[in-house]
Amino acid sequence: MRILVTGGAGFIGSHLVEYLLAQGHEVLALDNYFTGSKDNLLHLRENPRLEIIRHDVVNPIMLEVEQIYNLACPASPLHYQYNPVKTIKTNIMGTLHMLGLAKRVKARILQASTSEVYGDPTVHPQTEEYWGNVNCIGIRSCYDEGKRAAEALMMDYHRQNGVQVRIARIFNTYGPRMAINDGRVISNFIVQALTGEDITVYGQGQQTRSFCYISDLVEGLVRLMNCDIFEGPVNLGNPEEYTILELAQKTLELTGSSSRLIFQPLPQDDPKQRCPDISRAKRLLNWQPTVPLTTGLQETIHYFGEKLRQLGKLPAA
Ligand code: NAD
Ligand code: UDP
Repeated sequence: MRILVTGGAGFIGSHLVEYLLAQGHEVLALDNYFTGSKDNLLHLRENPRLEIIRHDVVNPIMLEVEQIYNLACPASPLHYQYNPVKTIKTNIMGTLHMLGLAKRVKARILQASTSEVYGDPTVHPQTEEYWGNVNCIGIRSCYDEGKRAAEALMMDYHRQNGVQVRIARIFNTYGPRMAINDGRVISNFIVQALTGEDITVYGQGQQTRSFCYISDLVEGLVRLMNCDIFEGPVNLGNPEEYTILELAQKTLELTGSSSRLIFQPLPQDDPKQRCPDISRAKRLLNWQPTVPLTTGLQETIHYFGEKLRQLGKLPAA
């Protein structure tokens, strides 16, 4: 198949592109390089089935494809709050343009939605039926409400135009190729631990998250895209839940670092607890994560170690 991956030079996108190429597909990786990097696709550039396109999804584009994975959007709070108007434009106009394309060429389209549509959840763990608790005027709303609007657009194109849509509600995912300056918790903690800087725990570190390793997530995305039953959004994430303090301690343990923990103010509207109910994904896709946090963290620590050495921020091994 010819498959378009928007956000293809990003963290999740580049792993997905690699997976689809390995399956023998032709892949169009589209990106504006805001948070993604050409480096993430460097090892694939000799593959004749890969085409890399510099494009911003806020503008329409004409392509001929059979499937579209719409991942284009900064995912880290640090980056999506940098230019919030652009974030909401990317989510709404980008999704609208990709849906228009899907409608025209009769492609199936998968939207990368997020656990953030549940906001600061009052239901725990979160099932797909839960409507969420989002502050629609807060500093996270450019992302949360942008993604909620994207879901609404997907459902309306499905009902009104018969477009085949899939919606993945992705929970915190981590692994190699996260950017060093990404700002999300796992990359921050690992880089801080490896370089001996203080580990920045926000609040008291009692908030929880559930961390899914990248290979598990990519497998879930591809299964969801190719599942012929559509029942609405599907949570994809690892249901093992940790406090941020536990994550900090685990990172110190696995890196053998002597960095200190420091406590900084909790960002506004930071969700207190988050954990997916993945019953739907298990039933429809026969999918569940297989990589334990320790293994995934070890892989990610190895990646950041190499990267920091290449950049001269750590001495050569
Ligand atoms: P990322 O920031 O590494 O990747 C996003 C990619 O989209 C980058 O390559 C960026 O340059 C590109 N992009 C941003 N705006 C664009 C635009 N207007 N036009 C074209 N390209 C644009 O983040 P990621 O973690 O790989 O996230 C990928 C997708 O998955 C995002 O849609 C994100 O919201 C979603 N998601 C990720 C997580 C997670 O934990 N990683 C959780 C929930 C949802
Ligand atoms: N966090 C932290 N220190 C950091 C970065 C993040 O304590 O250096 C916390 C953050 O406040 C949140 C959790 O870790 O409670 C996950 O943050 P992240 O930005 O990775 O993703 P989110 O789930 O909030 O979108």
